[in-house]
Order: sequence, then C-alpha cells, then structure tokens
Amino acid sequence: MTTAHPPQPRYVDGNALAGPLAEIFAADLTPALRRCAHCHTVSAVAELHVYTHCPGLVARCPGCETLVLRLVRTDHTIWLDLGATGCIQLDLT
Ligand SMILES: [Zn+2]
Repeated sequence: MTTAHPPQPRYVDGNALAGPLAEIFAADLTPALRRCAHCHTVSAVAELHVYTHCPGLVARCPGCETLVLRLVRTDHTIWLDLGATGCIQLDLT
C-alpha cells in the first residue's frame, strides 16, 4: 500500500530573496508591499513564489503567477530584471 502525498510546491516564499536583494538595496524589501500590475493583488515581497531550480532566482506573483523579477548573480555581476514588479511600497518607520 502506498501513501499518497500532496504535491509539493516547486517554489519557496519570497524570504529567499532577502539575502540576494540585500546586496543591492540598503533596506530589507521582503516586508514591503507590492501591488501587481497585472492582477492588482497586494502582497508582501516575502509572499512571492520564488523558483530556485533555474539559473538564479525567479519570483512570480502569488495571485496570478506573472513573472515579477529575475535575479542572477555571478562572481562579478548581478543581473536584476524588475520588468513586471509593479508598484512596491516600503514603510520607513
Ligand atoms: Zn499578479
């Protein structure tokens, strides 16, 4: 008899972006709110679906799976594509 396991998501949450984004931005962006330009979902950057089984990190919207950002780091270069990020709101208090 086999035990059925629910399928595991192929992504981790947006907290996986904390370290790589800290190399670029002075503030921690994971608690920042993001409004999706495509589906208008408002969520924290930490709630993005981050796919790590690809070159670099690929983050998708938790509401519609639209590609939000791509981040690839080599020894000498960081490539950051924020093409579909939407609007990010960062609380300064
Ligand atoms: Zn969306």
